[in-house]
Amino acid sequence: MTKGPYKWLNKSLETLHKANWYRSEKTVSNLPGSTLELEGKTVINFASNDYLGLAGDERLIQSAIAAVEQYGTGSTGSRLLSGHRDLHSQLEQAIARLKQTEDALVFSSGYLANIGTIAAIVGSKDLILGDIYNHSSLKNGAKLSGATVIEYLHCDFKDLAAKLEENRHQYRRCLITTDSVFSMDGDICQVPDLLSLGKKYDCMVLFDEAHATGVMGKTGAGCVEHFGCSGEEMIQVGTLSKALGSLGGYVAGSATLIDFLRNRSPSWIYTTALSPADTAAALRAIAIVETEPQRRAKLGENVTYFKQELSKIIPLSKGKNPVNLPSESPIICLGLESAKTALIASEKLKEAGIFAPAIRPPTVPTSRIRFSLMATHTTQQIEELLTVIRQI
Ligand SMILES: *Cc1c(COP(=O)(O)O)cnc(C)c1O
Repeated sequence: MTKGPYKWLNKSLETLHKANWYRSEKTVSNLPGSTLELEGKTVINFASNDYLGLAGDERLIQSAIAAVEQYGTGSTGSRLLSGHRDLHSQLEQAIARLKQTEDALVFSSGYLANIGTIAAIVGSKDLILGDIYNHSSLKNGAKLSGATVIEYLHCDFKDLAAKLEENRHQYRRCLITTDSVFSMDGDICQVPDLLSLGKKYDCMVLFDEAHATGVMGKTGAGCVEHFGCSGEEMIQVGTLSKALGSLGGYVAGSATLIDFLRNRSPSWIYTTALSPADTAAALRAIAIVETEPQRRAKLGENVTYFKQELSKIIPLSKGKNPVNLPSESPIICLGLESAKTALIASEKLKEAGIFAPAIRPPTVPTSRIRFSLMATHTTQQIEELLTVIRQI
């Protein structure tokens, strides 16, 4: 149908369809929780990043409503012009307290926090070494920065050390970037080992705690806390949109780093400040993370139970189709041989009342079904999932 310079779009879409890579959004119509109203059908939700069940929490809703009534719906400008509110400072202090860092800065999303931080702290004279499985925002931030980018094998610090040994001396600054909990596999980065490599080769180290914040560590501060590394100098980025049930991103680190980013980070300076509702909801969520450790404990129990029962059906790392992939987080994957089998499995799960997405290339190198557990899943809901997995 389309002609001329836009014709290629149809061809490209056709190719996506043929490879079973085509994707489209599905409409959810209920309040966030452990079930989904999905196109007229109620299914159990194993596809949510709302790990603690806070996105539909009455207290977050009330905090957002109060903020809208006091400050309106939009923040009307960038933080350095007319967009800054007291709520932003309160949220930044709360993040710094949770993370045990000197300061923090909130961005309009985790994606923008990564892009804006990386682009601010390294440039064309510098080197970035990133895990090959890093999130898209780390990879695109690296590209945008203009630095030389080298990827190392997934969580392979021997490979990283070899690449540092060979390349580090040719560059001014060096930044190592990694997810702390990997979003597509659920495995975790060995934080202390990476920090000591960073020290040895005089590199800055950036951890993306998007899936770890509120979930990992004794107080829910993340993977850095889980490994007892809080207080060491590093850069921590994360999101307000997963376990914290809101929208937005953050960077936490030294006062000097944050001061520098306020002056040099383009995706913070040239964008509208986070909305009052999102800011207030995230602030309330952090207070709940700090005062209700039982939510994190319940999530941990659900994860342990599901993994234990799943490995009775499909032994860990064994078999071919599906493979039960090892995980140390609420993200648990069954690897499948192709995009097509992953789609079929996801469809069968949906017919049986379970929502868990097929994750396919180009998001990941190999197709899989991904289950995300929540603190608000009941044992019965997890049992239902296990029953369905046994059947298919
Ligand atoms: C979700 C995610 C982001 C992006 O966060 P948003 O706030 O959703 O933009 C960044 N990094 C990782 C590892 C993520 O999983």
